[in-house]
Amino acid sequence: MNAVEITNHYIRQASELMGLGSRVERLLLSPEAEHHVSVPIELDNGDVAVFSGFRIQHNSARGPMKEGLRFHPSVDADDVRALASLMTWKTAVVNIPYGGAKGGIACDPAALSTGELERLTRKFTQRIGSEIGPQRDIPAPDVNTNAQVMAWMMDEYSRLHGYAPAVVTGKPLELQGSEGREAATGRGVVHVIEQALRDTGRSIAGATIAVQGFGNVGAYAALLAHHRGARIVAVSDASAAVMHADGLDVPRLFTDFAVPRRALAEYQDDGVVRLEHEELLTEDVDVLVLAALGEVLTEQVAKDLRARMVVEAANGPTVPEADAILAHRGIAVLPDILANAGGVTVSYFEWAQNIQSMRWTEEEVNRRLEQVMLDSYRTVRGLVEQRNLTWRTAAYIVGLGRVAKATVLRGV
Ligand code: NAD
Repeated sequence: MNAVEITNHYIRQASELMGLGSRVERLLLSPEAEHHVSVPIELDNGDVAVFSGFRIQHNSARGPMKEGLRFHPSVDADDVRALASLMTWKTAVVNIPYGGAKGGIACDPAALSTGELERLTRKFTQRIGSEIGPQRDIPAPDVNTNAQVMAWMMDEYSRLHGYAPAVVTGKPLELQGSEGREAATGRGVVHVIEQALRDTGRSIAGATIAVQGFGNVGAYAALLAHHRGARIVAVSDASAAVMHADGLDVPRLFTDFAVPRRALAEYQDDGVVRLEHEELLTEDVDVLVLAALGEVLTEQVAKDLRARMVVEAANGPTVPEADAILAHRGIAVLPDILANAGGVTVSYFEWAQNIQSMRWTEEEVNRRLEQVMLDSYRTVRGLVEQRNLTWRTAAYIVGLGRVAKATVLRGV
């Protein structure tokens, strides 16, 4: 199954249980619009390179469409289509007034200079400029994009349409970004972990956690869980997986590796051992956090997995065969559309502050984020308990239910 087939599989599974019917199901499966653009830029050496860019707008029944822009060599239409659909369900699960969209440019950002990245971002913004907007589609950072990329997008869009900070979120604080946005996805992940452990009679203090992916989401999740007393025994990035049975020095890893984006392969410390990438996924821990890319939890990993709980901080990390095995083994998988919704939630707070020309404090943002995450978690948990469903199916039922109602009320 490719990424879209995987997402559609989960949608159909939930839709069948809900008895939505093929009429509504058909509406929910089809993206509203797909923009494929070519993005030519002049390279520093005077040559010209042409990149493929995508913005796929999945569903706007509940509001303007929202979320990430990804720079990665593996970006293709199929990938972006699946991620756009996930955003529709995620914004509905946390009940914020948005639909779902996703964008990407197939490129290797590590091979581009800062000037080339800026030209790429600006040209892409020109190409899709008439399709996005504060009341239409609001991009945000995702893999390999950050506050600087959002600043370039905002500037380019504002040149064409007038000053419009609300056109993107995840901006720098100096350009109407929100306090708390950078840490928001990781923070939301930790709220979910803490509550899920509490529900099984455990505390996050003393729990063992392994984290795949040590970028924005994984590093903040590790750091905030560490601050709550969890023992982070293993983390990995694309370069290496490192482990310390007594717990890694997460604050040091955060400051010396995550912040400057230094490869974990360079990390050495007393008692730290190297793992194969796959070994991290099958470590004997209380919680496995997946915070890298999609489709990493395969059928074989699901069979060998020893964690008591899996938390999808990344989008689409579990393939359906693995999902079925874990359900059969009674291992809870807290799905992406719930667990990593903290990022889009604070993006919504940023947009809400921008359109009102207001600023909230970090405490205010974090307090509201915690409330949204815990309310959403409890809504999904209610269905899990009532109908004996997996967390994923329950979350899809919540999301699909809200989008389907809005779709029917608005009409075809
Ligand atoms: P990022 O680029 O900051 O970090 C990605 C990390 O994954 C890096 O440390 C990279 O080295 C690592 N990685 C890549 N391949 C790996 C592999 N094979 N094994 C181990 N590590 C690997 O990206 P991010 O923003 O942290 O996003 C991570 C995931 O979370 C993505 O799936 C993204 O869609 C999802 N997500 C991000 C946000 C957000 O706010 N940034 C919100 C929701 C979901």
